[in-house]
Amino acid sequence: MHEFSIAVNIVDIAVEHAEKANARRVNEVELEIGELSGVVYEAMETAMEAAIKDTLLEGAEVKIIRIAGRGHCSDCGKEFGLANLFDPCPECGAFNPEVLAGKELRIKSINVD
Ligand SMILES: [Zn+2]
Repeated sequence: MHEFSIAVNIVDIAVEHAEKANARRVNEVELEIGELSGVVYEAMETAMEAAIKDTLLEGAEVKIIRIAGRGHCSDCGKEFGLANLFDPCPECGAFNPEVLAGKELRIKSINVD
């Protein structure tokens, strides 16, 4: 239930933001979640649906934007698509690429009325 605790956390932050903006309702919440963040997308969608119940976010549309993993090799400088954190550089085989993208786990925008 890793995703559920993340979802509750996101909803808490979004509710706080909406309250500060004196929102009557929240129309849409956009999340950016990287493919290397360890979050299972389907589980996250289900968790968000459950977490927004009985909050100011109830009825809001939750959009999850997937961010593909990208790595940068510190040995040869190549940039490449990173399917998982432990992939070696396809050019020189070095491990420990610097992660440029894919670990995102954040609220991108909240649309309120
Ligand atoms: Zn390399």
